[in-house]
Amino acid sequence: MARPTPERVDPWLLSEQEAVLEGDIALSALPRLAPLLRESGGEVSYRFRFGRDEHGRSVIHSSVKAELRLECQRCLNSMSHQVDAEGALALVRGPLEAEQLPRELDPLLLQEKELLQVRELVEDELLLSIPVSPRHAAGSCSGHRHREPEEPAAQQEKPNPFAVLAALKTGGNHS
Ligand SMILES: [Zn+2]
Repeated sequence: MARPTPERVDPWLLSEQEAVLEGDIALSALPRLAPLLRESGGEVSYRFRFGRDEHGRSVIHSSVKAELRLECQRCLNSMSHQVDAEGALALVRGPLEAEQLPRELDPLLLQEKELLQVRELVEDELLLSIPVSPRHAAGSCSGHRHREPEEPAAQQEKPNPFAVLAALKTGGNHS
């Protein structure tokens, strides 16, 4: 059952309150993700735990889970892509602050009074989890595994017809 997701929240306040925000969002309601999906059914479950770290930074520990149906780039059939992503974000107000973060914290750039778009954050986490070229595992793909790219060497054997034409033209223009 889908729980309602607030459109925007105040992440600075939620960090002070050490709040937890969780729910489900239909994948079809995420406009940047939807075009990348082979099938748009299903939901993403998210959980954001707000708080402060030992240096007083406002942080969000995120957990995003979903099963996405992507198109295998080898056989073009549907394939399952399980997302179970955990992350830690630190709220920062500028690039300088972002540079000072330890490696385990990813920056989330927000102005002092800027609200956090919950759906967009969930969508960002899903988009980051999608491989550039999704494929079935080698043994379970029905695709044309032998469809290799054309050999460039074979093309170079033949003279380029335009080059031949150009040579004829320059040769013939002297008269
Ligand atoms: Zn495949």
